[in-house]
This record gives sequence, structure tokens and C-alpha cells, in this order.
Amino acid sequence: MTLPALFLSHGAPTLALMKSPASTFLKSLAGNLPRPRALLVVSAHWEETQVALGLGTDTIHDFYGFPQPLYRLQYPAAVAGDVAERALQLLTEAQIGARLDPARGRDHGVWVPLMLAWPKADIPLVPLSLTTSGSSADHFAIGRALAPLRDEGVLIIGSGSATHNLRAKPTPAPAEWATEFIEWLDRTLEAGDDQALVNWQHVAPFAKTNHPTIEHFEPLLVARGAADGAPSRRLHASWEFGSMSMNAYAFGS
Ligand code: ZN
Repeated sequence: MTLPALFLSHGAPTLALMKSPASTFLKSLAGNLPRPRALLVVSAHWEETQVALGLGTDTIHDFYGFPQPLYRLQYPAAVAGDVAERALQLLTEAQIGARLDPARGRDHGVWVPLMLAWPKADIPLVPLSLTTSGSSADHFAIGRALAPLRDEGVLIIGSGSATHNLRAKPTPAPAEWATEFIEWLDRTLEAGDDQALVNWQHVAPFAKTNHPTIEHFEPLLVARGAADGAPSRRLHASWEFGSMSMNAYAFGS
């Protein structure tokens, strides 16, 4: 059985506690998937000079000024050490520099969506970092190197945000710059145009407005690379705070 790779938009940390179309979607996610042996999660909130795999178990509350109950949430899933070793091997074979980080735990890009989707925290987990200097092509290549894990019972998840402009004013409806970007993304994924996707900063409408910094989009590149050309399917579409897209996609059936 080959598992899909997923891209999930994790929104604000409060998603873990609030009822919204996106949190309702995430709560239904596990019921619509085969049970994975392990989860490998690429979060927008972890960037290193080279790819790192986290072996720590801490639930990291890497946000400020949110309600106190959020800081008490824990996600105590076991560490998928074997998957980390296997991922390291695959990345090394693809000549992508990578290392294990014995201390790094789970940032909120990892635990917020997982807490909704797998609330029992009973599936072993390993987070994978983005790289600070990596281009979209580099992140796509990281995913492609990890693609064999999909045949080994590992669910690869990119956790970011389909649009992510925190300076945008909350509006009752999404702004045109956001809807045009999402229409382009849907079209590009549907067409399987990975070349355009890798070139998104140059060809997508309002790319810089939607992603003033690129770290929330790059997890999608990793997940799409792991798809190894398999078809895309949009799993969820909604908006929060006006122009923050909560879209989610599956790559591969
Ligand atoms: Zn985030």
C-alpha cells in the first residue's frame, strides 16, 4: 500500500482549540486515510542550514500572546527513530545533506494539525526541517528523495499555509490577491504542472503578497516532491482571518 503525501494549512495556533471548517476537516482526516505506521512532518516553523530530523519529544509552544490554555497542550507521540534513520539514508543517497537532531521536539506547525487529526498521539512521529538556503527546487528534491517512505507505511505531511500574509488586514471575504493565488495553485496542482509549482515565486499571481517569506509554502513543495508525479486532490478549502487560506491537498491516492 502506498500512502499519499499531504499538505495541510495549520493556520494560527488557536486552530487547536477553535471550531472552524478547517478544524472540522482536520478532525475527519484520519478517518479517511489508512492508518500510517509513522508520520514524517515538515513544518514551516523549523528551518536549519541543512535538513534535520528531530528526535526530541518536547511539545514546543513557539508563539507569543495567545490564550494560556494553548500553552498547556501537549502532543506526546513516540519518536519514529527508525523512520528518521531511513529518511537520513534516503537523503544521503540523493546527496542531500541531512542530520539527526537528538533534542528537537515538535513545534506548533507539527502538533496543531496532528492534535486535531490524531488526538490520541498514538502514531510515532518525526519532524523534518526546511533549509534556510534551500530553493523551491531544493525542497521539491527533498520530498522526491523521501518518496519511498510512502511505500513503507509513512505518511509524509507538509504543514504550512497555502497563503500566509500576516500583515493583511482581516476582511469579511478573502482579497483578490489571495483568491487569484489559490485559483492558480488549484489549477497547477490539478494539471500536475510541477515545473510551474517549483517556479511559483516567478509565475504565480501575487506570489510575494501571499508569501512575503516563503517558509509557509515550502512544505507544499516537499510534499509534492514526495508524490513523485502522482495526481493531486484538494481535500479542503476554507479561509480564516479574511485572506489566510486553509486549503489542504493529497498527492497520490
Ligand atoms: Zn505557521
